[in-house]
Amino acid sequence: MWQIRPGLESVKSYYVPDVAWPVKLDANERAEALPPAVQAGIAERLAAVAANRYPEIGQHSLKKALAAGLGLEPENIVLGNGSSEVLAAICRVFGGVGRKIVYPHPSFSMYKIYCLLADSEPLTVELDAGFALSPEKVFTTALKEQAGLIILCNPNNPTGGAMATEAVEYIVAGARCPVVVDEAYGEFAGKSVLPLLGKYPNLIVARTFSKAYGLAAARVGYAAAGREIIAAVGKVLLPYHINAFSLAAAETVWGMRDEFAPGIARTVAERERVAAALREMPIEVFPSATNFLLLRSARAKELSDYLASQGVGVRDFSAAPALAGCLRVTVGTVSENDVFLAATGKFIRGEV
Ligand SMILES: *Cc1c(COP(=O)(O)O)cnc(C)c1O
Repeated sequence: MWQIRPGLESVKSYYVPDVAWPVKLDANERAEALPPAVQAGIAERLAAVAANRYPEIGQHSLKKALAAGLGLEPENIVLGNGSSEVLAAICRVFGGVGRKIVYPHPSFSMYKIYCLLADSEPLTVELDAGFALSPEKVFTTALKEQAGLIILCNPNNPTGGAMATEAVEYIVAGARCPVVVDEAYGEFAGKSVLPLLGKYPNLIVARTFSKAYGLAAARVGYAAAGREIIAAVGKVLLPYHINAFSLAAAETVWGMRDEFAPGIARTVAERERVAAALREMPIEVFPSATNFLLLRSARAKELSDYLASQGVGVRDFSAAPALAGCLRVTVGTVSENDVFLAATGKFIRGEV
Protein backbone atom coordinates (compact mmCIF):
# COMPACT_ATOMS: atom_id res chain seq x y z
CA MET A 1 0.00 0.00 0.00
CA TRP A 2 1.30 3.48 -0.81
CA GLN A 3 1.14 6.31 1.63
CA ILE A 4 1.44 10.00 0.91
CA ARG A 5 3.95 11.84 3.08
CA PRO A 6 2.29 12.70 6.40
CA GLY A 7 1.40 16.37 6.57
CA LEU A 8 0.91 16.76 2.82
CA GLU A 9 -2.85 16.33 3.24
CA SER A 10 -2.98 19.68 5.01
CA VAL A 11 -1.21 21.51 2.14
CA LYS A 12 -3.72 23.15 -0.18
CA SER A 13 -2.90 23.42 -3.86
CA TYR A 14 -2.56 26.96 -5.17
CA TYR A 15 -5.65 27.48 -7.25
CA VAL A 16 -6.66 30.15 -9.71
CA PRO A 17 -9.24 29.46 -12.39
CA ASP A 18 -7.79 29.31 -15.91
CA VAL A 19 -10.15 31.71 -17.65
CA ALA A 20 -9.29 33.61 -20.84
CA TRP A 21 -10.85 36.88 -19.63
CA PRO A 22 -11.32 39.49 -22.37
CA VAL A 23 -10.21 42.00 -19.72
CA LYS A 24 -7.77 40.13 -17.52
CA LEU A 25 -7.19 41.99 -14.26
CA ASP A 26 -6.71 39.02 -11.96
CA ALA A 27 -3.01 38.13 -11.93
CA ASN A 28 -1.02 41.37 -11.61
CA GLU A 29 0.70 40.79 -14.92
CA ARG A 30 1.98 43.58 -17.12
CA ALA A 31 -1.08 44.62 -19.10
CA GLU A 32 0.66 45.50 -22.34
CA ALA A 33 2.70 43.29 -24.62
CA LEU A 34 6.43 43.83 -24.25
CA PRO A 35 7.92 46.91 -25.92
CA PRO A 36 8.43 45.90 -29.61
CA ALA A 37 12.21 46.37 -29.43
CA VAL A 38 12.38 44.03 -26.45
CA GLN A 39 10.12 41.49 -28.12
CA ALA A 40 12.41 41.56 -31.16
CA GLY A 41 15.49 41.27 -28.98
CA ILE A 42 14.06 38.21 -27.25
CA ALA A 43 13.14 36.57 -30.55
CA GLU A 44 16.68 37.05 -31.79
CA ARG A 45 18.22 35.62 -28.61
CA LEU A 46 15.84 32.66 -28.55
CA ALA A 47 16.67 31.79 -32.14
CA ALA A 48 20.32 31.47 -31.13
CA VAL A 49 19.71 29.13 -28.16
CA ALA A 50 21.28 25.71 -28.73
CA ALA A 51 18.27 23.57 -27.85
CA ASN A 52 20.36 20.39 -27.85
CA ARG A 53 22.65 21.66 -25.07
CA TYR A 54 22.00 21.98 -21.36
CA PRO A 55 21.94 25.56 -20.14
CA GLU A 56 25.06 26.93 -18.42
CA ILE A 57 25.07 25.14 -15.08
CA GLY A 58 26.29 28.24 -13.25
CA GLN A 59 23.83 30.56 -15.04
CA HIS A 60 26.79 32.94 -15.24
CA SER A 61 25.54 35.08 -18.05
CA LEU A 62 22.34 36.33 -16.40
CA LYS A 63 23.90 36.46 -12.93
CA LYS A 64 26.74 38.63 -14.22
CA ALA A 65 24.34 41.00 -15.94
CA LEU A 66 22.13 41.30 -12.86
CA ALA A 67 25.09 41.75 -10.53
CA ALA A 68 26.59 44.46 -12.71
CA GLY A 69 23.28 46.33 -12.81
CA LEU A 70 22.72 46.02 -9.07
CA GLY A 71 26.25 46.84 -7.95
CA LEU A 72 26.79 43.32 -6.60
CA GLU A 73 28.90 40.27 -7.46
CA PRO A 74 27.46 37.24 -9.28
CA GLU A 75 28.05 35.28 -6.04
CA ASN A 76 25.41 37.52 -4.43
CA ILE A 77 22.68 36.30 -6.78
CA VAL A 78 20.63 33.13 -6.93
CA LEU A 79 18.18 32.66 -9.78
CA GLY A 80 14.90 30.83 -9.66
CA ASN A 81 12.15 29.50 -11.87
CA GLY A 82 10.14 32.54 -10.88
CA SER A 83 10.93 34.18 -7.57
CA SER A 84 8.49 31.56 -6.24
CA GLU A 85 11.18 28.93 -6.59
CA VAL A 86 13.73 31.11 -4.82
CA LEU A 87 11.33 31.86 -1.95
CA ALA A 88 10.49 28.17 -1.58
CA ALA A 89 14.21 27.34 -1.58
CA ILE A 90 14.92 29.98 1.06
CA CYS A 91 12.23 28.37 3.24
CA ARG A 92 13.91 24.98 2.80
CA VAL A 93 17.25 26.48 3.82
CA PHE A 94 16.10 28.36 6.92
CA GLY A 95 13.04 26.32 7.83
CA GLY A 96 12.89 22.60 8.38
CA VAL A 97 11.41 20.28 10.98
CA GLY A 98 10.59 22.08 14.21
CA ARG A 99 11.60 25.49 12.86
CA LYS A 100 9.37 28.50 12.49
CA ILE A 101 8.92 30.97 9.68
CA VAL A 102 7.28 34.33 10.42
CA TYR A 103 5.36 36.26 7.79
CA PRO A 104 2.45 38.73 7.68
CA HIS A 105 -1.18 37.88 7.12
CA PRO A 106 -3.00 38.66 4.89
CA SER A 107 -0.18 38.46 2.40
CA PHE A 108 0.91 36.27 -0.51
CA SER A 109 -0.89 32.96 0.06
CA MET A 110 2.03 30.95 -1.26
CA TYR A 111 4.16 31.70 1.81
CA LYS A 112 2.18 29.18 3.81
CA ILE A 113 2.66 26.55 1.13
CA TYR A 114 6.43 27.17 0.88
CA CYS A 115 6.60 26.92 4.62
CA LEU A 116 4.68 23.65 4.89
CA LEU A 117 6.55 22.08 1.99
CA ALA A 118 9.74 22.93 3.87
CA ASP A 119 8.33 21.05 6.91
CA SER A 120 8.39 24.30 8.85
CA GLU A 121 5.88 25.86 11.14
CA PRO A 122 4.15 28.96 9.75
CA LEU A 123 3.77 31.79 12.23
CA THR A 124 1.70 34.70 10.98
CA VAL A 125 1.63 38.30 12.18
CA GLU A 126 -1.74 39.90 11.50
CA LEU A 127 -1.92 43.23 9.73
CA ASP A 128 -3.95 45.87 11.54
CA ALA A 129 -7.44 46.99 10.47
CA GLY A 130 -5.98 49.35 7.86
CA PHE A 131 -3.73 46.55 6.56
CA ALA A 132 -0.56 48.05 8.01
CA LEU A 133 2.11 45.79 9.46
CA SER A 134 3.60 46.54 12.85
CA PRO A 135 7.38 46.14 12.64
CA GLU A 136 7.48 45.63 16.42
CA LYS A 137 5.06 42.72 16.18
CA VAL A 138 7.14 41.01 13.51
CA PHE A 139 10.31 41.62 15.40
CA THR A 140 9.08 40.43 18.79
CA THR A 141 7.24 37.40 17.39
CA ALA A 142 10.37 36.25 15.57
CA LEU A 143 12.56 36.76 18.64
CA LYS A 144 10.17 35.12 21.06
CA GLU A 145 9.58 32.11 18.84
CA GLN A 146 13.21 31.88 17.73
CA ALA A 147 12.13 31.92 14.12
CA GLY A 148 14.48 30.59 11.48
CA LEU A 149 13.27 33.08 8.88
CA ILE A 150 11.12 36.18 8.46
CA ILE A 151 9.37 36.86 5.17
CA LEU A 152 8.20 40.39 4.40
CA CYS A 153 6.24 41.25 1.29
CA ASN A 154 6.95 44.86 0.39
CA PRO A 155 4.79 46.22 -1.11
CA ASN A 156 2.33 43.66 0.16
CA ASN A 157 0.18 41.46 -2.06
CA PRO A 158 -2.84 41.54 -1.99
CA THR A 159 -3.28 44.68 0.11
CA GLY A 160 -0.99 46.89 -2.00
CA GLY A 161 0.57 49.00 0.73
CA ALA A 162 4.29 49.51 1.24
CA MET A 163 6.19 49.70 4.50
CA ALA A 164 8.69 52.48 4.98
CA THR A 165 12.25 51.43 4.28
CA GLU A 166 13.08 52.41 7.88
CA ALA A 167 10.51 49.92 9.18
CA VAL A 168 12.01 47.11 7.11
CA GLU A 169 15.48 48.10 8.26
CA TYR A 170 14.33 48.07 11.87
CA ILE A 171 13.22 44.45 11.51
CA VAL A 172 16.34 43.38 9.64
CA ALA A 173 18.66 45.14 12.09
CA GLY A 174 17.07 43.54 15.13
CA ALA A 175 16.30 40.06 13.80
CA ARG A 176 18.38 37.10 14.89
CA CYS A 177 17.52 35.31 11.66
CA PRO A 178 17.53 36.05 7.95
CA VAL A 179 14.82 38.34 6.63
CA VAL A 180 13.70 37.90 3.04
CA VAL A 181 12.01 40.94 1.57
CA ASP A 182 9.82 39.91 -1.36
CA GLU A 183 9.90 42.90 -3.70
CA ALA A 184 7.80 41.38 -6.49
CA TYR A 185 6.19 44.82 -6.93
CA GLY A 186 9.21 46.92 -5.99
CA GLU A 187 9.49 48.59 -9.40
CA PHE A 188 6.05 50.17 -8.93
CA ALA A 189 6.90 51.36 -5.44
CA GLY A 190 10.06 53.00 -6.72
CA LYS A 191 12.03 51.86 -3.71
CA SER A 192 14.00 48.84 -2.67
CA VAL A 193 16.07 47.63 0.25
CA LEU A 194 18.76 46.38 -2.13
CA PRO A 195 21.06 49.25 -1.02
CA LEU A 196 20.95 47.81 2.51
CA LEU A 197 22.48 44.47 1.47
CA GLY A 198 26.01 45.60 2.28
CA LYS A 199 24.99 46.64 5.77
CA TYR A 200 23.00 43.58 6.87
CA PRO A 201 24.34 40.05 6.29
CA ASN A 202 20.91 38.61 7.23
CA LEU A 203 19.02 40.50 4.52
CA ILE A 204 17.76 38.73 1.40
CA VAL A 205 15.94 40.60 -1.37
CA ALA A 206 13.74 38.64 -3.76
CA ARG A 207 12.69 40.10 -7.11
CA THR A 208 10.99 38.85 -10.24
CA PHE A 209 10.78 39.37 -13.98
CA SER A 210 7.09 38.39 -13.87
CA LYS A 211 5.44 41.69 -12.97
CA ALA A 212 6.94 45.06 -14.01
CA TYR A 213 9.21 43.39 -16.57
CA GLY A 214 6.35 41.58 -18.23
CA LEU A 215 7.99 38.15 -18.36
CA ALA A 216 5.46 36.08 -16.41
CA ALA A 217 5.50 33.41 -19.11
CA ALA A 218 9.23 32.77 -18.76
CA ARG A 219 9.27 32.17 -14.98
CA VAL A 220 12.45 33.91 -13.86
CA GLY A 221 13.15 35.55 -10.53
CA TYR A 222 16.13 35.99 -8.27
CA ALA A 223 17.32 36.72 -4.78
CA ALA A 224 20.25 38.87 -3.77
CA ALA A 225 22.10 38.41 -0.47
CA GLY A 226 25.49 37.70 1.03
CA ARG A 227 27.45 34.87 -0.55
CA GLU A 228 27.02 32.36 2.30
CA ILE A 229 23.25 32.63 2.11
CA ILE A 230 23.31 32.47 -1.68
CA ALA A 231 25.52 29.37 -1.62
CA ALA A 232 23.16 27.66 0.84
CA VAL A 233 20.11 28.45 -1.29
CA GLY A 234 21.95 27.12 -4.33
CA LYS A 235 22.32 23.76 -2.58
CA VAL A 236 18.59 23.10 -2.41
CA LEU A 237 17.92 23.96 -6.05
CA LEU A 238 18.24 21.31 -8.74
CA PRO A 239 20.79 21.71 -11.51
CA TYR A 240 19.38 23.22 -14.72
CA HIS A 241 16.22 24.37 -12.93
CA ILE A 242 15.77 27.27 -15.33
CA ASN A 243 15.66 26.52 -19.02
CA ALA A 244 17.97 28.22 -21.49
CA PHE A 245 15.11 30.01 -23.30
CA SER A 246 13.93 31.68 -20.11
CA LEU A 247 17.46 32.64 -19.10
CA ALA A 248 18.01 34.21 -22.52
CA ALA A 249 14.70 36.07 -22.41
CA ALA A 250 15.38 37.43 -18.92
CA GLU A 251 18.87 38.53 -19.89
CA THR A 252 17.47 40.40 -22.88
CA VAL A 253 14.84 42.10 -20.74
CA TRP A 254 17.38 43.06 -18.10
CA GLY A 255 19.69 44.49 -20.73
CA MET A 256 16.81 46.58 -22.08
CA ARG A 257 15.18 47.41 -18.76
CA ASP A 258 15.17 51.13 -19.46
CA GLU A 259 12.52 50.37 -22.09
CA PHE A 260 10.15 49.42 -19.28
CA ALA A 261 10.24 52.73 -17.43
CA PRO A 262 7.45 54.35 -19.50
CA GLY A 263 5.18 51.31 -19.00
CA ILE A 264 5.77 51.37 -15.25
CA ALA A 265 5.02 55.11 -15.18
CA ARG A 266 1.82 54.55 -17.20
CA THR A 267 0.73 51.85 -14.77
CA VAL A 268 1.37 54.07 -11.76
CA ALA A 269 -0.58 56.94 -13.36
CA GLU A 270 -3.44 54.60 -14.26
CA ARG A 271 -3.46 53.14 -10.76
CA GLU A 272 -4.05 56.60 -9.33
CA ARG A 273 -6.67 57.44 -11.95
CA VAL A 274 -8.60 54.21 -11.29
CA ALA A 275 -8.33 54.63 -7.51
CA ALA A 276 -9.67 58.19 -7.70
CA ALA A 277 -12.56 57.12 -9.97
CA LEU A 278 -13.50 54.29 -7.60
CA ARG A 279 -13.43 56.60 -4.56
CA GLU A 280 -15.72 58.94 -6.45
CA MET A 281 -18.36 56.19 -6.86
CA PRO A 282 -17.85 55.71 -3.84
CA ILE A 283 -15.91 52.50 -3.29
CA GLU A 284 -13.31 52.04 -0.60
CA VAL A 285 -9.83 51.62 -2.09
CA PHE A 286 -6.64 51.00 -0.15
CA PRO A 287 -3.51 52.97 -0.97
CA SER A 288 -1.30 51.00 -3.35
CA ALA A 289 2.37 51.09 -4.26
CA THR A 290 1.91 48.28 -6.78
CA ASN A 291 0.25 47.53 -10.12
CA PHE A 292 -3.01 46.54 -8.47
CA LEU A 293 -5.68 47.96 -6.19
CA LEU A 294 -7.49 46.33 -3.31
CA LEU A 295 -11.04 47.55 -2.96
CA ARG A 296 -13.67 46.75 -0.36
CA SER A 297 -17.41 46.65 -0.78
CA ALA A 298 -20.24 45.05 1.14
CA ARG A 299 -21.36 43.58 -2.20
CA ALA A 300 -17.93 42.42 -3.34
CA LYS A 301 -18.97 38.93 -4.40
CA GLU A 302 -21.88 40.25 -6.47
CA LEU A 303 -19.61 42.87 -8.01
CA SER A 304 -17.03 40.25 -8.91
CA ASP A 305 -19.75 38.07 -10.48
CA TYR A 306 -21.12 41.01 -12.43
CA LEU A 307 -17.65 41.98 -13.67
CA ALA A 308 -17.12 38.37 -14.75
CA SER A 309 -20.39 38.49 -16.70
CA GLN A 310 -18.96 41.52 -18.49
CA GLY A 311 -15.74 39.70 -19.32
CA VAL A 312 -13.68 41.39 -16.61
CA GLY A 313 -11.67 39.01 -14.42
CA VAL A 314 -10.60 40.25 -10.98
CA ARG A 315 -9.34 38.37 -7.93
CA ASP A 316 -12.09 37.83 -5.38
CA PHE A 317 -10.77 37.59 -1.82
CA SER A 318 -14.12 38.41 -0.24
CA ALA A 319 -14.60 34.95 1.27
CA ALA A 320 -11.34 35.15 3.23
CA PRO A 321 -12.16 36.36 6.77
CA ALA A 322 -9.18 38.73 6.92
CA LEU A 323 -10.10 40.18 3.52
CA ALA A 324 -13.89 40.21 3.84
CA GLY A 325 -15.44 42.27 1.07
CA CYS A 326 -12.16 42.68 -0.77
CA LEU A 327 -11.42 42.37 -4.47
CA ARG A 328 -7.97 42.77 -5.99
CA VAL A 329 -7.92 44.44 -9.38
CA THR A 330 -4.81 44.63 -11.51
CA VAL A 331 -4.18 47.94 -13.24
CA GLY A 332 -4.68 47.28 -16.94
CA THR A 333 -4.33 49.38 -20.06
CA VAL A 334 -6.30 52.62 -20.23
CA SER A 335 -9.07 50.96 -22.23
CA GLU A 336 -9.20 47.90 -19.96
CA ASN A 337 -9.43 50.15 -16.93
CA ASP A 338 -12.22 52.10 -18.62
CA VAL A 339 -14.19 48.89 -19.18
CA PHE A 340 -13.68 47.93 -15.54
CA LEU A 341 -14.66 51.38 -14.26
CA ALA A 342 -17.74 51.62 -16.48
CA ALA A 343 -19.02 48.21 -15.35
CA THR A 344 -18.25 48.94 -11.70
CA GLY A 345 -19.96 52.32 -11.90
CA LYS A 346 -23.09 50.74 -13.38
CA PHE A 347 -23.11 48.15 -10.62
CA ILE A 348 -22.71 50.74 -7.88
CA ARG A 349 -25.44 52.97 -9.32
CA GLY A 350 -27.75 49.97 -9.38
CA GLU A 351 -28.11 50.08 -13.14
CA VAL A 352 -27.57 46.36 -13.64
C1 LIG B 1 3.81 37.39 -8.32
C2 LIG B 1 4.47 37.29 -6.99
C3 LIG B 1 5.66 36.58 -6.78
C4 LIG B 1 6.41 35.83 -7.74
O1 LIG B 1 6.09 35.44 -8.85
P1 LIG B 1 7.06 34.64 -9.81
O2 LIG B 1 6.32 34.70 -11.07
O3 LIG B 1 7.21 33.27 -9.25
O4 LIG B 1 8.36 35.37 -9.84
C5 LIG B 1 6.24 36.59 -5.54
N1 LIG B 1 5.69 37.23 -4.54
C6 LIG B 1 4.56 37.91 -4.69
C7 LIG B 1 4.02 38.64 -3.53
C8 LIG B 1 3.91 37.97 -5.91
O5 LIG B 1 2.77 38.63 -6.01
